[in-house]
Amino acid sequence: MANPIFSSLPTTIFEEMSGLARSLGAINLGQGFPDDPGPQAIRAHAADAILNGYNQYPPMAGLPELRHAVAAHYVRTQGLDLDAMSEVTITSGATEALAAAFFALIEAGDEVIVFQPVYDAYLPLIRRAGGVPKLVSLQPPHWRLDRATLEAAFTARTRFVVLNNPNNPTGTVLPDQDLALLAELCVAHDVIAICDEVWEQVVFTGARHRPLIAYPGMRERCVKIGSAGKMFGLTGWKVGFLCAAPALTHSLARAHQFLTFTTPPNLQTAVAWGLETGEAWFRQMPIDLERSRDRLTQGLRREGFAALVSQGTYFLNVDLAASGVVESDRDFCMRAVRDAGVAAIPVSALYEEDPVTSILRLCFSKRDATLDAGVAALARARELSLTSPAR
Ligand code: PMP
Ligand code: GLN
Repeated sequence: MANPIFSSLPTTIFEEMSGLARSLGAINLGQGFPDDPGPQAIRAHAADAILNGYNQYPPMAGLPELRHAVAAHYVRTQGLDLDAMSEVTITSGATEALAAAFFALIEAGDEVIVFQPVYDAYLPLIRRAGGVPKLVSLQPPHWRLDRATLEAAFTARTRFVVLNNPNNPTGTVLPDQDLALLAELCVAHDVIAICDEVWEQVVFTGARHRPLIAYPGMRERCVKIGSAGKMFGLTGWKVGFLCAAPALTHSLARAHQFLTFTTPPNLQTAVAWGLETGEAWFRQMPIDLERSRDRLTQGLRREGFAALVSQGTYFLNVDLAASGVVESDRDFCMRAVRDAGVAAIPVSALYEEDPVTSILRLCFSKRDATLDAGVAALARARELSLTSPAR
């Protein structure tokens, strides 16, 4: 009889590709993280809090100073009126916030609408919570929401929709029209939206982040999730925010207390300081990233790659088929990391059914030299694939 000691869960594509990059010494344009150490002042604050601050369990829902800083940040940047103490919970990263939301709210058999390509953590967590994912595929190159497809996905059993906007891996920032459509359907079907908005601060010229919680009828039926790791380019920090109306927050905090209970207090203190003093950082960081995006885009285009538009996040997608590459994204990625020394993410890995198999995700939150070396290596991989395509 099978003993369930071996997990049936696969290794996530991010770890697989970073592992290959590490063992092969390849340039890593796969997993999303900056290759600089992050803002010095906020790290100095964290160091000081470790040496001179309080290092025992903080309150379960987070340090009040951070909960106030989060609420104040969202008033300033998104015009939201969140009450710090009844509507903000601090978690150990957005990943824990997602888990808490799913475990707190989903009942066995509830249908949960999820968009493909899908962030790796959603489906395993939703299933562990007893939810039944209902997949809706978005189509390249624009990855927009479509009324007919969306209306068809909502049924009498639909209880939740999970939205990631700005979107990883596609780099899209949804326009008002799409968000209004989703809000309309959530209200009509009495559905709660779990909104993963970790990329809200990483939005480029011409696009604007609009939180779904601000749409008519959504204030009481939205769980808004943020991540300090993404806001400050400190992805290992794992300080997340769960924002929702008091009744929802009550349930979310109950799940959080049995997941991690608390989040390191020194990091919370530093993030609170960062949010309060971060105006210049929040202005400059997207400008610098946009420049990196443009450098990577131009380099790729010079080498004959078809780069798609990226409006936000750390990510840029390449259409391999339109770049003359006939092999699948996964085959191309394996060739690129093994034979050309550069790691990327095959977007097909973020589909559970009917994958799009010709899109490559590249991370551009890197130094110029890393980006340039990455482009040269990708060009080598393309050359190899043109001369001897994988069978
Ligand atoms: N959601 C999305 C869409 C992400 O891209 C990420 C991390 N890149 C997370 C959640 C996880 O965030 P954290 O590291 O704060 O857990
Ligand atoms: N969110 C990061 C990415 O998309 C990866 C985080 C992880 O590895 N879990 O690259």
